[in-house]
Parts: sequence; C-alpha cells; structure tokens
Amino acid sequence: MSDVEALLKGARERGLMMTMADGNISHVPFTAHPSQFPRVAYEEARQLQPLFNKLVVTLVRERHLLAHIAAEVSKYDAFIRGLYDIFEQVPPVDRMFGITRSDYMLNGDGRLLQIEMNTISVAFVAFSSHLARLHAEQDLNTETNRALEEIGSAFDEALRLYGMECRRVLMVVRPEEKNTFDQDLLLARLKEQHGIEVTRITLEQASTTVVLGPTRELLVDGHEYGIVYYRSGYTASDYPSASEWKGRLLLESSCALKCPDVGSQLAGMKKTQQVLTDPKILENFLPATECEQMRRCFAGLYSLDSEEVVQMAMSQPTSYVLKPQREGGGNNLYGEDMLSALRSMGADERRAYVLMELIEPIPFNAVFVRDGQTVPCSAVSELGIYGIFIAEKDHLVQNTASGYLLRTKAHGVLEGGVASGFSVLDSLSLK
Ligand code: ADP
Ligand code: MG
Repeated sequence: MSDVEALLKGARERGLMMTMADGNISHVPFTAHPSQFPRVAYEEARQLQPLFNKLVVTLVRERHLLAHIAAEVSKYDAFIRGLYDIFEQVPPVDRMFGITRSDYMLNGDGRLLQIEMNTISVAFVAFSSHLARLHAEQDLNTETNRALEEIGSAFDEALRLYGMECRRVLMVVRPEEKNTFDQDLLLARLKEQHGIEVTRITLEQASTTVVLGPTRELLVDGHEYGIVYYRSGYTASDYPSASEWKGRLLLESSCALKCPDVGSQLAGMKKTQQVLTDPKILENFLPATECEQMRRCFAGLYSLDSEEVVQMAMSQPTSYVLKPQREGGGNNLYGEDMLSALRSMGADERRAYVLMELIEPIPFNAVFVRDGQTVPCSAVSELGIYGIFIAEKDHLVQNTASGYLLRTKAHGVLEGGVASGFSVLDSLSLK
C-alpha cells in the first residue's frame, strides 16, 4: 500500500469524513505530510493562548468596553444588535466556560501575526487530533495534538463546576447541518470517556422546549442541563426569525454554563480585536508585560471612521483586507472587491467593518490529498491554537492552551477554512 493509500484508509477508519458540495460523502481534504513550521513561533503562539483567554474573561467581567463597542457596531449591524440586546438583558455570568482558538499566520518577515481570536463554535477539535495521529504513523516528527482529549476533559471539569452531578450538555446546532462528523467524534469521546450525554437542539426548538426552573435551571423534557454548547448561533443566518432570538435569550438566561456566553462571543468580534490594538485600551485590562507580549502578534488593524484610512486602503488595495463582523469564512473582501465595496459604502456603513494589514507568508511545496487524489502545490499555512478557560467569578479554574489546528491552502487563495473548501487539514512538523 502506498503512503497515500494508507492515509486514505486511516482517514476513513478514523471518521475524517465530510459531505461535499455535491452531497457525496468523502474524506476531509488533508496534506500527505505534516508541514514544517518554526518551533519558536509555535511555542510563542501556545504561550499567548492563556493571555487571550484571560483577556476574554476580563472583558466580559468588566463589561463596559464590550458594551461600548457592541453598541457602536449595533448602529450598523442588526446581527450584533441582537447579541448586544441579550448581553444587556441577562444577568452577568458568574461561571464561564470557553473553548477558543486563536489563529495566526507567519508573515514573510518572520512575525507571527494573529488573524483572529475565535470564541464560539471552534471546529476541527477531533479531526485535527486524529490527523496528527495519522500523520505520526508515517512521520515521527509530527507534533502531538491533544485537543480532543483535553477539550473532552474540559467539559467534564465544567460540569463538575456546575455541580448537582449533572452530566448533560445541550448542543445548539443548525437545522440542516450536514457536516456533523467532527462534532460526532467529540460527542463520542464525551460519552465514552466521561459519561456525558449530549442532546442536540436548534435555536428554534429551544424557543419552545426550554423551560427555566426556580433558580434558572435549564430544563428540557424534564432533564437538567449543565452546559449549553454552541455549534450554531455565530452568524446572522442562524437567526432567520424572532424565534431563534427568543431561543438564544432563554438559553442565555439560564444558570447553565454557556460555551460561550454571549459576552464572550462579542469579545471575539473583529471590531473588539481592532479596538484592543490601541495600547491605552489594552493596558486597562491586563498587566503591561502581558500586553507587550500580546502586542507582538498584532497585525495592523484600523477602524474605517477616518478618511485617511479609507484612502490608505484605496491606494494599496493588495496590502489590506476588509472584514465585516462575521464568522465562518467567505465574508472578507480583498483587492478589487474591497475597492468597490469601499466606494459604494457610506461613512456610516463602513464602521461595521475593520481594515487589516494583509499577512503574506512565504509559500512552500505541499501535497494535498483531495477526493482520493494527490495534488502538489505551492502552499501557505494558518496555525490555530485551541484554548480552554473555565472561570468562577474572578478565579480562573482552568486557563490553558490545548492542541492545535493547522490549515494549509494554495498560495494565492485569499480566504481560509476547510469546510468552505479553501484549505486542507494539516499537522505540524516543528523545525
Ligand atoms: P472568519 O471569521 O470568517 O474565519 P478570518 O478573519 O479568520 O474570518 O478570515 C478568514 C480567512 O481569511 C483566514 O482563515 C485567512 O486565511 C484569511 N485572512 C484573514 N485575515 C487575513 C490577513 N490579515 N492576511 C491574510 N489573510 C487573512
Ligand atoms: Mg477564521
């Protein structure tokens, strides 16, 4: 059996499958070998993760900056307004549970630069861990990836914090999610290793079936749930009617731990990321040494409320990317598209976006395995570090980096994302 045949067999056996655009089920696209990445940059990213986690928790606890940013964006963005309304309506959370992922690219000049911090519905926890094991069978240099084990244990820990010997998690999903393979592997781990039961529910179903008990316990069909785990609800199309918003409000009003609570979701806005690049603002939340460490990975990020910034983008359209307050890939605007969007938008509308310096990694040779075929190409990678935080009032019960996601795409492809078809899954070979 060739190496690639062995990989394909391994991918099928481990459940690394997805529903393709044509409706057929195939293996997830991946690289034939783990890709090289500098060890120092990887270690730096790992060290940053607890700082970004702590920043999210602090922003939610202190409220005022998040409320201010969300209120501003709400003027131009109805989706953020919906989230912000809920943030203002529900009592402040005292227990928090987050599964995060901060994404980076290594710029050509050697700087490790943050793409974004994801605070909701981070994907590929299981796939990335399994692929590293698969790659390791052929390449002993493959960096171990314990995301699945560690995130599985975090659910256990968070349920213990909830107490009442509750072993139930309510997972919020889309009505017609086809790609549940990665989620299923995590759920199997929760059940087999930790005896945790997971029930899927849509936001619309939540609006009619969730009941709050006397002390805001989250009840569905008479069962109490200790965690709400969002794998939906992060984008405007997840809320097609008032029912979904009603469902979200009910879930957020419960005393279950929300992974994440609506405040942590707002902390993951691109606008929040941009505002925090101002040293005067960041330093209000974390000690100066930690701010200094974080700032090293900040790319140029700009608010579009000044004519100067708009002109800067217009005169060098290939040096920037324009980003709306959205998640899930495929929303950013580059080059000509950015130019025409900027031209057509009024000054107010622009404020719903941020402008970001384009990061340009040095390409390397890779071999992609797609639909059973190998495709050699010139590629660039995006490194994600998973993080876990569990907090009770001001105390961080857990705050860790836990495993990684490496996604690789053909050089010249601007967008990212495996589910959206731009990237393939990869593993690290540190050098
Ligand atoms: P989303 O929330 O949709 O995932 P991202 O900010 O992660 O939004 O952008 C999507 C993709 O676009 C990234 O995975 C990356 O491949 C590419 N990208 C985003 N920002 C930059 C940037 N500043 N420079 C180069 N590529 C970028
Ligand atoms: Mg992203």
